[in-house]
Amino acid sequence: MKVQEKRVVIVTGGNRGIGKAIVHEFAANGDIVYVISRHKGEEAGAVFFEADIRDIAKMKEILQTIYKENKKIDILVNNAGIMEDALIGMISSENILEQFQINTFSVIELTQLASRFMKRNKKGSIINIASIIGVMGNAGQSVYSATKGAVISFTKSAAKELSGDGIRVNAVAPGIIQTDLIDHVPEEKMKKRIENISMGRTGLPEEVAKTVVFLASDDASYISGQIIGVDGGAVI
Ligand code: NDP
Repeated sequence: MKVQEKRVVIVTGGNRGIGKAIVHEFAANGDIVYVISRHKGEEAGAVFFEADIRDIAKMKEILQTIYKENKKIDILVNNAGIMEDALIGMISSENILEQFQINTFSVIELTQLASRFMKRNKKGSIINIASIIGVMGNAGQSVYSATKGAVISFTKSAAKELSGDGIRVNAVAPGIIQTDLIDHVPEEKMKKRIENISMGRTGLPEEVAKTVVFLASDDASYISGQIIGVDGGAVI
């Protein structure tokens, strides 16, 4: 059996929810995993950096530290995100700024930072966690959907630009996944949303994580610029 070299993986928001499941999958594979989030979780097998991904100077410092330690960065998973619902007419400027800063601007900044290091080794894989809402839209979530729609178009352009450097860029667009993020959705509303899912159920963080690990792997060596739905057949 071929012994695979340990890969260096960075997962933003890896302390809970989908990110935690992603960390678990990579760690179980024997990879070296780094987590960046504002609070420490209970993730096993990962090195934790406490930071806000909006702090770009700090992100630069963290990525430099990781590169110095390992002489490479193989995989970046831009997973951290927030969702703040508001109807058009009621959206505050703070709501717009915060969601775009965390969900979109930081994805662009971190892609820039990581790709500079990946270029040195002519190899890398970047996976952005978008959302089904960025594809379909949703009433009450216009800003969130715009932040994720922007991530989707950024993913496509970045894939085109970075292919020549051996870097693949893809996005995963999850449907409704059981995490803290959807805790606030009222039961009736959730019931209606589940009725629109072909499989008639919500998804698990592990189901997203396995897709991310596949996209990051050499098994996906000819896949770039794709938006992979993990949504139980909600978008067909
Ligand atoms: P959770 O709310 O469970 O987790 C969000 C993660 O993002 C936490 O680890 C949080 O850590 C981190 N995070 C948020 N803001 C920042 C910040 N400023 N700096 C650093 N870390 C931050 O959400 P999910 O696991 O459900 O969501 C993960 C991703 O999946 C998000 O991008 C979300 O939009 C997307 N998604 C989720 C869906 C779902 O149904 N759950 C569906 C579609 C997409 P901390 O607060 O400690 O900083």
